[in-house]
Amino acid sequence: MAATSTSLPARLGTTLQRAQRINPRLNAFTQLSSQSDLETQYARVDKGKGRLDGKSVGVKDMFATSGDGSRTTCSSRMLQDYKSPFEATVVRQLRQEGAIVMGKTNMDEFGMGSANFHSHFGPTLNPSGPQDIDGTLGMGESEQRVAGGSSGGSAAAVAADLCDFALATDTGGSTRLPASYCGVLGFKPSYGLLSRFGVVAYASSLDTVGLMSKDVTILRDIFDILDQHDPRDPTSIPTFARERASTVHSDLEKRIGEALNSSEKPLSGIRIGVPADLFPTSLLDPSLLPSIRSALSRLKDLGATLHSVRLKTAPLGLSAYYVLASAEASSNLARYDGTEYGFRAPEDSSEDVRTPLYAKTRTLGFGDEVKKRLLLGTFALSAEAFDNYYLQAQRVRKMIQNELDSLFTSSNPLRQSSSISKGAETVDFIVHPTTISPAPLLSSFTSPPSPRDSSPTSTSSSYVQDLLSLPASLAGLPAISIPVGRTQGGDAEGWPVGMTLMSQWGNDRNVLDVAKIVDHALRKC
Ligand code: GLN
Repeated sequence: MAATSTSLPARLGTTLQRAQRINPRLNAFTQLSSQSDLETQYARVDKGKGRLDGKSVGVKDMFATSGDGSRTTCSSRMLQDYKSPFEATVVRQLRQEGAIVMGKTNMDEFGMGSANFHSHFGPTLNPSGPQDIDGTLGMGESEQRVAGGSSGGSAAAVAADLCDFALATDTGGSTRLPASYCGVLGFKPSYGLLSRFGVVAYASSLDTVGLMSKDVTILRDIFDILDQHDPRDPTSIPTFARERASTVHSDLEKRIGEALNSSEKPLSGIRIGVPADLFPTSLLDPSLLPSIRSALSRLKDLGATLHSVRLKTAPLGLSAYYVLASAEASSNLARYDGTEYGFRAPEDSSEDVRTPLYAKTRTLGFGDEVKKRLLLGTFALSAEAFDNYYLQAQRVRKMIQNELDSLFTSSNPLRQSSSISKGAETVDFIVHPTTISPAPLLSSFTSPPSPRDSSPTSTSSSYVQDLLSLPASLAGLPAISIPVGRTQGGDAEGWPVGMTLMSQWGNDRNVLDVAKIVDHALRKC
């Protein structure tokens, strides 16, 4: 039945006008809904029935959307005109609860990057500088900073109040990192809980739907809505395993619930691990430390006990991740060959006829960063490199998973508890800075890197920004980046700082509840 037009709630209209004014400079949305798109969507909402009635969502352009003329581009030339015939399960679930899609957000091409610099549509600017938004976006090019990636458009749209919340993805930190750079909350749920059906694949064993907002309560509501088994996603965790997880974590849930209701110290009895290996002093920008230190002392004021723990395998995550993610990407992106859908290189009779169509299509359709990953991944899977690279990276991944399992008091509901020996001191959560520095200058990406800096494992490369987010990704654990203040001193004075709270697989609700307590306490400071 065709939807009839209904007048929009004033709040949505105002947000759209703000987006129309700011987005041309910010470049957070690569497709912004029009007034009539919003009216059509709002007319379909079953008013007063949904939990997200009239709330606006920015959707990373990696999620398939359909029916409203929107394209699903992954910020790539390869898919720039692609219209999906179906919609991602999570987008459908949000619409059913009354959410309104404000537009598709900018990203690094196919999710590959940490700065939203590698987008066919140009970079997203970071709106969260020390000045007000017009001042920050009006900064000269030499002062502008990146929004982070790969979900930079989602983070910037939330930070600039262009939507109530946003969908992102997190393969190796792409929700937490841009959230940290832009000063918003970014949540990566446990791997397999939220459906990936209709989310364009990058590295399937790591890809996770991510959520961003300025309000933890909204994140908790969205998580509750989306946390369902989806038979159309083969990696979706079955219902019985979700139930097992809630039994495993029920004791902690009870303790948090009791402490919340009965005390001024709502984190009483909660043990939080502070791993030295995720505070790498030689790499951490000192301007982050005052905010991180005061957040740690706030945790103590709230009643938590802090415990110094080790995560010795953490530094190995960077190289393992880039081998595994690139290998999986080389397989997942093989489908873009110009024959079925997406971009196809034009036939050119003057060109060498021996160059096949798919090679021309892939050469022209993919950006340089994607091509670099595909070469690396194809090499890692080749017969000569497989043992030394791919298998070795899988072993490192297992070591990181085991070490994390040994640190947490709760056992991993997906594994045989007897297979892991617990450390002498176990904890309920782990905290660490989300990134090693505040948002880098946009200009640092515009000059070509030296060959040394362009290697994923070099400590001077931009890839090293992912270092701290990778253990949770490789182990599939829930983690949230919480804004904890702004940098003090240094060249990037006054830009946002994020701290990550992470926990055992399936402990997502407790992570969100503790994040809420911490976020509210920090806002009161
Ligand atoms: N920066 C990482 C990469 O480029 C993470 C990306 C992501 O999580 N999508 O692979």
